[in-house]
Amino acid sequence: MTFPIEQFQKLQTPFYYYDTELLDATLREIHSQIEAHPNYHVHYAVKACTNATVLRHIAQSGLGADCVSGGEIRTCLEAGFPADQVVYAGVGKSDWEINLALEAGIFCFNVESIPELEVINQLAQQKGKVARVAFRINPNVGAHTHANITTGLSENKFGIDMADMERVIVMAQDMTNVEFIGLHFHIGSQLLVMDDYVALCHRINELQDRLEAQGITSVANVNVGGGLGIDYQEPDEHPIPNFKDYFAVFAQYLNLRDGQQLHFELGRAVVGQCGNLVTRVLYVKLAHKQFAIVDAGMTELIRPALYDAYHKVDNLTSHEPEQVYDVVGPICESSDVFVKDYTMPATRRGDLIALRSAGAYGEIMASCYNCRPLPKAYCTEDFK
Ligand SMILES: *Cc1c(COP(=O)(O)O)cnc(C)c1O
Repeated sequence: MTFPIEQFQKLQTPFYYYDTELLDATLREIHSQIEAHPNYHVHYAVKACTNATVLRHIAQSGLGADCVSGGEIRTCLEAGFPADQVVYAGVGKSDWEINLALEAGIFCFNVESIPELEVINQLAQQKGKVARVAFRINPNVGAHTHANITTGLSENKFGIDMADMERVIVMAQDMTNVEFIGLHFHIGSQLLVMDDYVALCHRINELQDRLEAQGITSVANVNVGGGLGIDYQEPDEHPIPNFKDYFAVFAQYLNLRDGQQLHFELGRAVVGQCGNLVTRVLYVKLAHKQFAIVDAGMTELIRPALYDAYHKVDNLTSHEPEQVYDVVGPICESSDVFVKDYTMPATRRGDLIALRSAGAYGEIMASCYNCRPLPKAYCTEDFK
């Protein structure tokens, strides 16, 4: 990635910078990998990043949207995603959110419990509408990722137990204002081991066989969720995730029935690599260790504090011999550390630093803790 450093110099830091050319190249790659499969539908998982320009690029490319709140549904409709390509998941959908989704006429509610199904049926009835529903089934498939971002184990709060699958489908079929249209799964995030997805495919095949044996053949849609990871270590070597291998797993291992549509919900893999948090070095402090204190903190990028996440740190303005630093923010929390014992070109006050691969779960998780203003954001087109 090349950064417009001269233009950055004039800007107040910290800020997010999205390389929208990389975003567009990523979107083209996704479309080219699913081109041969007219029954594949990719929904962008909006919660990863709702920057307006980023969303516009994604909507214009023709992806659908995967939302987890009423606010997200509203935001993505405003960004130009068609309502009939919006899916909506979440364990705790409020009445106003369900009503908003019903009014908008979204494609599908991914339902996570029986009480939720009953409320959707009731609210749809009040409006004289029929809500399309899929059931999010917890497949009890583990994933090789951080414990806080695995979602498909029976101990997690998400989804409906496999044992209850038939019961909820029959319940839905007996209700007047919901239409059962599919099964939904999501096993976790930042997954790089394709075997996790192979295991998911095997589980879905098993469940589909079970349903067919009981005469349930109304599964028009299968949604396998998202979670494809990105290379945080070497963003410049792998700026675009390996979508080829990812989609190939489902083509090879998932036994789709005639006419079944397959849905994907990718967040991080779409936007992760195009985003960067740009910050300035405020002070270099030599104590027991050498600290580079920068003007961004966990308020702008909480992933290192929340998930122990690693972001590559590029010193954009120094070409000095390397030294070792703990790169830390200004927030009054000991966990406000971006990286420890990090080797980079010697730095001094005023250097510009880019925290790489920060497009997903970065800006959107920013907070005002310590009364800090939310970060600004710029895109490639802002510097043309
Ligand atoms: C968060 C989420 C996704 C996207 O996860 P990524 O790891 O960003 O791809 C997809 N589906 C659901 C239901 C989610 O909650």
